[in-house]
Amino acid sequence: MTRRSADAAVIVVGAGLVGLAAARAIGERLGTGDIVVVDKEDGPARHQSGRNSGVAHSGLYYAPGSAKADLAVRGRAALEQYCSERSIPYRTCGKVVVASDAAQLPALAELERRGAANGVRVERLDSERLRRIEPHVRAVGALHVLDTGVVDYPGVARSLVGEVCVAGGELRVGLELTQAAVRGDGLDVAFADGTRLRTSVLVNCAGLQSDRVAARCGAEPSVHIVPFRGDYTDVTGSSAELVRALVYPVPDPRWPFLGVHLTRSIEGHVHAGPTAVLALGREAYDRSVDRTDALALLRNRALWRLGLRYWRTGLAELRRARSPERVAEDLQRLVPELDAADLRPAAPGIRAQAVSADGRLIDDFAFAVSPRCVHVLNAPSPAATAALAIGQVIAGRVDTIPRRTGR
Ligand SMILES: Cc1cc2nc3c(=O)[nH]c(=O)nc-3n(C[C@H](O)[C@H](O)[C@H](O)COP(=O)(O)OP(=O)(O)OC[C@H]3O[C@@H](n4cnc5c(N)ncnc54)[C@H](O)[C@@H]3O)c2cc1C
Repeated sequence: MTRRSADAAVIVVGAGLVGLAAARAIGERLGTGDIVVVDKEDGPARHQSGRNSGVAHSGLYYAPGSAKADLAVRGRAALEQYCSERSIPYRTCGKVVVASDAAQLPALAELERRGAANGVRVERLDSERLRRIEPHVRAVGALHVLDTGVVDYPGVARSLVGEVCVAGGELRVGLELTQAAVRGDGLDVAFADGTRLRTSVLVNCAGLQSDRVAARCGAEPSVHIVPFRGDYTDVTGSSAELVRALVYPVPDPRWPFLGVHLTRSIEGHVHAGPTAVLALGREAYDRSVDRTDALALLRNRALWRLGLRYWRTGLAELRRARSPERVAEDLQRLVPELDAADLRPAAPGIRAQAVSADGRLIDDFAFAVSPRCVHVLNAPSPAATAALAIGQVIAGRVDTIPRRTGR
């Protein structure tokens, strides 16, 4: 049912997992159902939240003390409980992280240390134990991360929509925010189709568009979103039988992405990916070039600085993404028996990765406030895992903003 009143106590922009979890947490914290979640698409989870690896991360990788470490660990536990209470598919399958050559062993040891510091259950595997867990994986060293799981994220998103609506809120789709301006004791919010709403507080969870939405709300975001495309490959036939759960390489510590990995999804099929290359369109899943996005990237000094810093890794990633043979070789390093003929291209995702003005990839989650607004400016992986915990953080920030009385 669409609300007739043009007012809402809180408007959340973005019906991805972060926006929906924020709406639920805000409702609980403020004791109000008067929340409208808006999304420009025709339903929830149409971008990152519905186009990812479907993994509930343990908190292994993240710097101890960072928001990512804290919120991933708390968020994963909350997610597991949430799914169990609502019968949403979730399976704690564990994962192995695999060093394929001796040069990766120090990085593997650092992951083990980080995991332990973050309270993650992680064990070093000898070759016999690795063989029992993943019989077809080859490694010179491996970790077993017991807490990692797989989950139906679109199912979580649908469930959150249901709860926001039952509490008195609503999801309005097909509404693209074009501008928000503070007027008096509230914000006037305008949308591309001419709809206007008024609210006390706006929460920007717009993912790939979050820097632009922040700017449209009058904020001056200190970061730019750079889109990184992630291509997936379905592993079919007898090759799929070679993977029981999740098999990850040791990631490049200078790069915030985890490397092409093998995942047995919650539905039971195996996929590999995602790659990580610069995309010339924030939502260009068909590899087209979005003129506005491409020009914005070209004019973006932060991106040039980023290019200078990471050109070597970036080129290697580009070569891999352009060559199915290289993807197959990377996977065969993990599982030598895997047959390249069993690999098929699958639907891609595009990550929203914030970059600072001096060209650094922002590693941690990032939030900002501007008058009557809370902005989520960096929520890359593991933000799907951490969404319920991120929602609590956002609700805390919203609670500090004075709300109008009597709508
Ligand atoms: C390839 C890939 C693999 C990943 N794998 C994992 C994983 O296994 N585990 C994990 O934890 N995380 C993973 N992630 C990260 C995770 O998916 C994201 O961190 C998370 O989904 C972010 O959620 P969000 O709600 O912030 O963004 P999104 O899900 O992108 O939602 C943003 C929403 O804002 C809407 N929007 C944008 N602009 C406007 C506007 N102007 N007006 C109205 N609406 C607007 C969009 O339509 C969209 O629905 C992965 C991401 C990718 C891309």
